[in-house]
Amino acid sequence: MFSSARSRSDQTAEEETKTRPPYVEAPDAKQSFQPKYKGACYCGQVEIAANSDPVDVRVCHCRGCQRTHGASYQWSAFFHKHQVLFTKGHDHLEFYNTETRAPQHKLPVKILCKSCHAPLCDEGRRMMLIFPPVFDWKDGKMPDSFKPRCHIFYGTRTFDIEDGAPKFEGMKEKSDKLPEVEGDSDDDDASNSKQPEARSEGKQDGTTSNGDAKAKSTVTAQQDAHGARASQNGAAKQDASMSNGQSNGNAAPEDSIASDVKRQRRSS
Ligand SMILES: [Zn+2]
Ligand SMILES: [Zn+2]
Repeated sequence: MFSSARSRSDQTAEEETKTRPPYVEAPDAKQSFQPKYKGACYCGQVEIAANSDPVDVRVCHCRGCQRTHGASYQWSAFFHKHQVLFTKGHDHLEFYNTETRAPQHKLPVKILCKSCHAPLCDEGRRMMLIFPPVFDWKDGKMPDSFKPRCHIFYGTRTFDIEDGAPKFEGMKEKSDKLPEVEGDSDDDDASNSKQPEARSEGKQDGTTSNGDAKAKSTVTAQQDAHGARASQNGAAKQDASMSNGQSNGNAAPEDSIASDVKRQRRSS
């Protein structure tokens, strides 16, 4: 149903996308792409590089990210598309759209290696979200610029993380910040690469153990707001009833990310 319903214009748009970064170098770039960070999939058939530090780094604890990664969370480093290049194997990729639940290159889309199926990144409309473990660090030490700057959908975390970064119960812009760190502002942490270290106040436990049912329904709505990734939580009925929020939400994360980045660029 999903893939057969795709229009010719959808497919044309997909092909069109692959003629631009990160699939090929930007044709109008003033100089050739100079990798700063190089990475690869598990089997090495796909290589990816970034030519700058990430503009934001987030950890998402939503159920969709947990399921698609088989992990407690998705850790993403945000780059503009022109800052990223598949240096090898850009024709050896596997795509998965979590909204349609179909293996198609429809943005936003998850990108994996076709052979080893290692998740490499998410491609949004404007941004690339690379999963930092893909990169090989110089001397094996991850640069500070890849440390998480906030946690989102922390309400569905599998365990607490005391890294001092701000924690949001759902989407960063649309939910309450959970008490862990004091004194950081809500709207500009895209530009704060370092957050003050702070101790967990132990309130988080209370927040989640109080009224599990209430927390669950809140989280479901927020997952839908989170968009594509949220739609894999298996609650098909709920997904359908939330379809409004879902389609709004699909655009929202990217848009909000883009506005974060714009603010950061203006202020720097
Ligand atoms: Zn591979
Ligand atoms: Zn997520």
